Amino acid sequence: MANDVLVVVEEQDGTVTDATRELLGAGRALAGELGGDVLALRLGPGSLAEQLAGADRVLHVEHPALEPYNPEAWEVTVAEVAKDRGARVVLMATTTVGMDLGPAVAARLGAPVVCYVVGAAVDGGQLVATAKIYGGKLLAEVEVPGEAAVLVAIGGSFAPASGGSVPEVEPVPAPAALDGLRTAVRQRIEPDRSDVDITAADLLVAVGRGIGDRDNLELVQELADALGAPLASSRPLVDQGWMPKSRQVGKSGLKVKPKAYLMFGISGAPEHIEGMRDAELIVACNTDPNAPIFEVAHVGTTADLFDLVPALVERVG
Ligand SMILES: Cc1cc2nc3c(=O)[nH]c(=O)nc-3n(C[C@H](O)[C@H](O)[C@H](O)COP(=O)(O)OP(=O)(O)OC[C@H]3O[C@@H](n4cnc5c(N)ncnc54)[C@H](O)[C@@H]3O)c2cc1C
Repeated sequence: MANDVLVVVEEQDGTVTDATRELLGAGRALAGELGGDVLALRLGPGSLAEQLAGADRVLHVEHPALEPYNPEAWEVTVAEVAKDRGARVVLMATTTVGMDLGPAVAARLGAPVVCYVVGAAVDGGQLVATAKIYGGKLLAEVEVPGEAAVLVAIGGSFAPASGGSVPEVEPVPAPAALDGLRTAVRQRIEPDRSDVDITAADLLVAVGRGIGDRDNLELVQELADALGAPLASSRPLVDQGWMPKSRQVGKSGLKVKPKAYLMFGISGAPEHIEGMRDAELIVACNTDPNAPIFEVAHVGTTADLFDLVPALVERVG
C-alpha cells in the first residue's frame, strides 16, 4: 500500500539486530501517522518472524545470492519489493549494510535518501526527517519530498518495538535479476577478535599523534597498565601501523562509551570526537590551548604529556 513502511531486516548469527528492532519501533510510529502497515523485509534463509514483533507482516525473500550480504543482490531486491508494494518509506540502519544500501536503493527508486537520521515524523501529510550533519555538530530537519523515501537511521535514536504478536510471513519471489548478477561474494573475512574489546571498557587511555614516535607509546602503555585500562588511539597511529585497527576510536574506527576517557596528544578532530563524545568523563591533555578537544573535554590540561604521563604513572603505580 502506498502508505506502508518497509523495514530492511539485519541479523547477526540468526539474531535480529537491536538496530532492526529500533527501525520497527520507528516504523510503527510512522505507519500510525501515515495510516499504513509496517512490513519487515527479510532477505535470506529463515523468516525470523518470531523476532520481528512490531511488524504487521514479514516479506520473506530467499535466494542463494542474498546470503551473505551481496550489495547488488540486496539493492535489486529491496528496490523491487519497495516499488512493487509502493512503500512510502524504506527504513534502514546506519550499519555497514545500511550505509552501503541506502543511497543505492534510493537511486534505483529515483527517491530521496536521508542518512544519519535520528528522528522521523509526518507533519500534515509531509514526511519530516531529522538528521545529523557535519559529523553530528548540527541537526538538520528535512522535509522529504516525493512519494517514496529512504531513511538510514542511526542506532539508539528510536525506541525498539515492544510487545505485539509474531507477524504473519508472506513469501515473496526473488527478482529474476538475482540469477544474472555481476557481483559475487567470494569469501567472508571475519575481523580479528583476539584483541581486547575497547567498546566494553569502563576506562580507556587514548593516545594521538602528540606522542611523536612509536617508541614513546611505551610511556602511555605503562600508564594504561597501571590503571588496568586498554590503550586506544586516534587514526593516524593506526594508519602508521603503530597501533592495531581494533584500538582506533572514531568515525572510521570504533564508538566507545567508557565511564572515563583519558586522552593524551589528541587534537579533537570531529572524526575522533564522533567515536568518544558519549564518554561520561573526558579528560584531555594537549599542549595547544586552542585544540578543539577542549570544547568537549570535561577536564583539560595544557601540560606536556611527556611530563604528565610519567607523573601519573608514579602516582598510580
Ligand atoms: C573520512 C575520515 C575518517 C576519519 N576517521 C577517523 C577516526 O575514526 N578516528 C580518528 O581519530 N581520526 C579519524 N580521521 C582523522 C581525523 O580527521 C584527524 O586527522 C585525526 O583524528 C587526528 O589525530 P590526532 O588528534 O592524533 O593528531 P593531530 O590532529 O595531529 O593532533 C595531535 C595533537 O597533539 C598535541 N600535542 C603535541 N605534542 C604534545 C605533547 N607533548 N603533549 C600533549 N599534547 C601534544 C597537539 O597540540 C595536537 O593537538 C578521519 C578522517 C577522515 C577524513
